[in-house]
Amino acid sequence: MLIDGHNRIVDYLRVSVTERCNFRCQYCMPEKPFSWVPKENLLSYEDLFKFIKVAIDEGIKKVRITGGEPLLREGLENFIKMIYDYDNDIDLALTTNAFLLPQCAQKLKDAGLKRINVSLDSLIPEVAHKIAQKNVLGTVLKGIQTAQDVGLKIKINCVPMKGVNDNELVDILEHCKNKGYTVRFIEFMENQQASEMAKGLSSDEIQEIIAKKYNFKKVERTDSSPSQDYELEDGYRFGIIEPHKDDFCATCNRVRLTASGVLIPCLYFEDALSIKEAIKANDIDKAAQILKLVLKNKPEKNKWAEDDGTQTSTRAFYETGG
Ligand code: SAM
Repeated sequence: MLIDGHNRIVDYLRVSVTERCNFRCQYCMPEKPFSWVPKENLLSYEDLFKFIKVAIDEGIKKVRITGGEPLLREGLENFIKMIYDYDNDIDLALTTNAFLLPQCAQKLKDAGLKRINVSLDSLIPEVAHKIAQKNVLGTVLKGIQTAQDVGLKIKINCVPMKGVNDNELVDILEHCKNKGYTVRFIEFMENQQASEMAKGLSSDEIQEIIAKKYNFKKVERTDSSPSQDYELEDGYRFGIIEPHKDDFCATCNRVRLTASGVLIPCLYFEDALSIKEAIKANDIDKAAQILKLVLKNKPEKNKWAEDDGTQTSTRAFYETGG
């Protein structure tokens, strides 16, 4: 079992397989041109898998593949199958924008994928286009439907933004309810790459909007999910991910691996260690030691900003996998 320096059990590994993305979401990506990490600096699937095996052997029970856009990396289904074949009890999930799901969903399901989380920020084509800076909505909806048809469980992630999609939250909730998806509204997390125009809604503001149409009650937390769930009178549950709340980090159970082999204990914390050399040298003991050291140094609370309000973490969400 993996326990961090603050007595939290860490059993969830997020693995980013690429920082590249086919969308340019305002809340995540810079508007100015920027360059990607060269492909040769990325760990191969075999090397990522070597570390995942170490992590599973040490106590990781849930692995989520993310990015950038993970479906952009060729052969993802083979990588998923490697993990599934190693331990088919692992809760194996993927976070995607769904754009490539129409052609990939069946292969992913066949490889052993159990669940997907999809970003869906708007149901209006022009607004979705404005957020992703690409005409995406039709293909995204088709991708989600294909995933549902092949039997993948679906959660929707939506980042509410002022003046952009805040008038659609009830529509998105109702769409998800009708389709049988769980929806989680994520408070916008400030970061240096996001558009300066991006302004998020707080959990309270999101609740106020939904309360205009629905009565709902808070559900007591029973696990380490980052989402605070709420239940409508008919029993449908939606979630809000509230990273700005003081107790958000108390149940954190996760650690993140980037595509270039950096092991990150927290989204908003600069210190991280690379497992690249250890893995490339097949030094499994060293990789396990690095994992334990990173967890020992996992901060009790994210270091969101310095006291003067300046941001401390320069890492991009598309690099860490969100
Ligand atoms: N491309 C995939 C996708 O669109 O879901 C996976 C990568 S994306 C970085 C993972 C998650 O991070 C998405 O749910 C996205 O909404 C969330 N995310 C990215 N930037 C964010 C921000 N500034 N605040 C809150 N959530 C953010």
